Amino acid sequence: MKSPRPRVLFATPECAPFVKTGGLGDVSAALPAALHELDVEARVLLPGYPGVLAAFRGARELATVAQAASVPACRLLEASLPSGVPLIVADCPTLYARDGGPYQDAGGHDWPDNGHRFGALSRIAALLGSAASPMEWHADIVHCNDWQTGLAPACLHYTPPPRARSVMTVHNLAFHGSFDPRLVAELGLPPESYAMEGLEFHGRMSFLKAGLHYADALTTVSPTYAREIQTPEHGAGMDGLLRKRRADLTGIRNGIDTTYWNPATDALIESRYGPENLGAKRANKRALQRRLGLDEKPEAPFLGMVSRFTHQKGTDLVADVLPGLLGLPLQFAALGSGEREHEHALRSLADRHPGRISVTLGFDETLAHLIEAGADLFLMPSRFEPCGLNQMYSQRYGTPPVARATGGLADTIVDTTTQSLADGTATGFLFGEASAPALAAAIRRALDAWRDPVAWRALQRNGMARDFGWMEPARRYVEVYRRLVAAAGS
Ligand code: ADP
Repeated sequence: MKSPRPRVLFATPECAPFVKTGGLGDVSAALPAALHELDVEARVLLPGYPGVLAAFRGARELATVAQAASVPACRLLEASLPSGVPLIVADCPTLYARDGGPYQDAGGHDWPDNGHRFGALSRIAALLGSAASPMEWHADIVHCNDWQTGLAPACLHYTPPPRARSVMTVHNLAFHGSFDPRLVAELGLPPESYAMEGLEFHGRMSFLKAGLHYADALTTVSPTYAREIQTPEHGAGMDGLLRKRRADLTGIRNGIDTTYWNPATDALIESRYGPENLGAKRANKRALQRRLGLDEKPEAPFLGMVSRFTHQKGTDLVADVLPGLLGLPLQFAALGSGEREHEHALRSLADRHPGRISVTLGFDETLAHLIEAGADLFLMPSRFEPCGLNQMYSQRYGTPPVARATGGLADTIVDTTTQSLADGTATGFLFGEASAPALAAAIRRALDAWRDPVAWRALQRNGMARDFGWMEPARRYVEVYRRLVAAAGS
């Protein structure tokens, strides 16, 4: 299966703009597009959720996949992403055509048949990397993303050669995809795969562990997170396996879509700007204050946040520190949704401090852009953060982040010190301990810097000059692919 131009199947449960619950949706759209520019023949495989099918009504059928074990038959449809990257849609109405989210129903409960839904996706991914591919095309590399596709490397392992090599990328180790072991047979895997050296994880069948155990190469989305997940603190029980496989594990930071997230051309914000006319940020701040019903005070430092409201993201830390900071003239706006108690804690603060604190529950692309553009500081106090995208957007928008020094945050933000300001590298404010006092101290430090307009401009411009695009990370993925293809051919 050696090819000068690697054929990569990028198997994913979400892909912007069709279906996105977080960073993986963005990565799935942007990375394959960047790979194309590097002469990799990438195709994306995505389940046929209603929103995906609606976008490609009348799509041509490429092939059919027969029923196997208790996985229903499925049609593969031909589509393409807005970037032009070919998209293969797995159309299986009994598994995917239902109202609600990709993983949960409208009430926020996991779909009870997620094991079958993503077992099927994984099986199809593996099939397209085998000699039995029902399409004329087959992959040299099956690139899997998170637990939803984690079973594909296991399926490939039990596929007779020639077969594709597999890459498993961990976007978030916290989600394991654990199911009843009877699924092993129902998904057509041999009983011996259900073992410590296989799919078994504490008496359950784990899709994530399958990927981590069987994939030929492992990657995760930042170098620091690659180190962190080998420790008991961040390893989610998989740290032993990851330490064992550390020679196969690479940390490659995510990129961002620098066209979509560009303050100089962003149609979703009030006033466009670049490093040379940062004064235009003021109009965005005013628009943000108006839109959210906050007092129109240009002089009040504005703290923004766009996030899932969860323990991981440290939303509780923000709710804890805000009351103690309100002696300062600052304003705060958050956009997001998540765990009920986190939503509630933030909402009750907004209720108590109208005009100064605003909390918007829901997903709102336009407001997310306006917060990036209009805020003065961006908060990301994550307890762990595999890569994180918003801190890169905020640097690009001249809105320095205040973030915990973990995972991709530590890799993409340079803390402001006398030294880093002097050498022109400072871009934000990092703090160590996941505690409210540590966050409060970092915010106070940032506000001190904000009061010095010259230093602040320098900080903004340093961040705006950083290259967070996809080409460099995409090159790193190509290296991983080429290594695997070369090893397969040797
Ligand atoms: P994660 O994937 O862990 O949720 P990331 O920072 O990697 O976090 O990616 C989150 C992505 O989702 C970013 O593109 C961010 O702007 C977007 N996002 C998150 N919540 C919202 C929201 N409520 N409205 C709009 N965009 C959001």
